[in-house]
Amino acid sequence: MSHSTAVLGAGALGLTAALRLAQRGDRVTVIEREPLPGGLASGFELQPGVWLEKFYHHLFRSDRRAIGMIDELDLGDRLVWKQPVTATLRDGVLHQLDSPRSLLGFSPLPISDRIRMGAALAGLKAMPDPRLLEGGTAAEWTRRWMGERAYDVVWEPLLRGKFGDAAPEIAMPWFWARVHDRTQSLGYLRGGFQQLYDRLAQRIRETGGETRFGMSVTSVRPDNGSLLVETEDGSERFDRVISTFAPRLTARLVPDLPAAWRDRHDWGRAYGAHCAILALDRPLTSAYWLNVNDPGFPFMALVEHTNYLPAADYGGRHLVYLGNYRPMDDPLMSAPLDTVLDDFLPHLARLNPAFDRSWVTDAWVFAAPFAQPIVTVDYRDHIPPFRTPIPNLWVANMFQVYPHDRGQNYSIALAERVVAAMGDAS
Ligand SMILES: Cc1cc2nc3c(=O)[nH]c(=O)nc-3n(C[C@H](O)[C@H](O)[C@H](O)COP(=O)(O)OP(=O)(O)OC[C@H]3O[C@@H](n4cnc5c(N)ncnc54)[C@H](O)[C@@H]3O)c2cc1C
Repeated sequence: MSHSTAVLGAGALGLTAALRLAQRGDRVTVIEREPLPGGLASGFELQPGVWLEKFYHHLFRSDRRAIGMIDELDLGDRLVWKQPVTATLRDGVLHQLDSPRSLLGFSPLPISDRIRMGAALAGLKAMPDPRLLEGGTAAEWTRRWMGERAYDVVWEPLLRGKFGDAAPEIAMPWFWARVHDRTQSLGYLRGGFQQLYDRLAQRIRETGGETRFGMSVTSVRPDNGSLLVETEDGSERFDRVISTFAPRLTARLVPDLPAAWRDRHDWGRAYGAHCAILALDRPLTSAYWLNVNDPGFPFMALVEHTNYLPAADYGGRHLVYLGNYRPMDDPLMSAPLDTVLDDFLPHLARLNPAFDRSWVTDAWVFAAPFAQPIVTVDYRDHIPPFRTPIPNLWVANMFQVYPHDRGQNYSIALAERVVAAMGDAS
């Protein structure tokens, strides 16, 4: 029997789920608040016809589901693979740190610690699953197996940059996944990942589905066996709903979710993501990715996109992201561009002493809520199942991809799983 299904959210997860449901013959409607599909991976038009992600994005070789989707949508010829330089800033110096060989030359640590860290990382890479690590923290594990200095110099700044004060409580299986899933070779969809999401939305429509962008969902309520989805434009009845929002957001929008569900799943913290993007008239650093491990910087990562793709792809502009994860009510998240630039730009001379503000020809700033779940040791117990206590209301979201770090690949894979589970249930 053909169901009418509303898919809430047009990120990687919602779009993939909608396509698969449409391919199974469902009458699918995707509802998205933003004017464009793509969610956290969406882009903006940097200059006419030239797109860039609001937040830096690439793929790893292990991202098989995302690569498969790119091929399925006939975009495979635009997927490029490179091994750009990843580095760590320590004591004012950029140290390349992206391979066993560069680790051996990583002078902020004594050679014995470099060898120890290399062995521990190799052990995590070889470990097929993280079951044995469950219950432990990344801080304890890295201190124990890599040593205090490796923790202080490399891992503590990374954990703190991503998770703030929760750094010492982050679950070890998440750290395992981060090491295990990553490859030196990084992929990028030349022309921007927005193409993937535009193409997905187009494929949904060609398969009979409907996409509504620029429309916010304000509530979902059960009503006589079906579900009423309310937006600013009114309410509409569906047989089934999949919410791809963060559990906390779904909890807010669905007042009928029972207390027991809320107690367990409306739980934990998430950070927002913040990126300032600079267009420069010349290169800034020699690295693609720079973990900013020195204290006192107002950003935790610097991603020089045009040290991956040539600046010629962007009309000769050199593009640099200055990224942060912050609590969603942090003043930075809503600060105007000029304030952000006044705060950030003076620090660039610490990375390149020749830097001058006149190099900046353009700048943008983006912030997004619910961008990084804070994966503390007890996180796992609070992950919601796909099925909710409300009949025909399903939840599938990037908060469920633990222990993996959230990423397009895992949202795409999760979408396939929730659709399979819905098929089994009908
Ligand atoms: C800084 C940063 C860097 C990243 N780097 C990478 C990377 O290098 N590689 C990679 O693969 N992944 C990366 N990611 C992660 C990747 O972007 C996400 O994992 C993926 O895009 C999540 O897709 P999703 O569909 O699960 O969620 P989302 O993209 O969050 O989609 C949810 C959608 O719901 C919509 N929505 C929310 N509320 C409402 C409402 N009330 N009504 C209607 N719509 C609503 C949102 O607008 C959004 O479009 C990065 C993320 C960030 C923040």
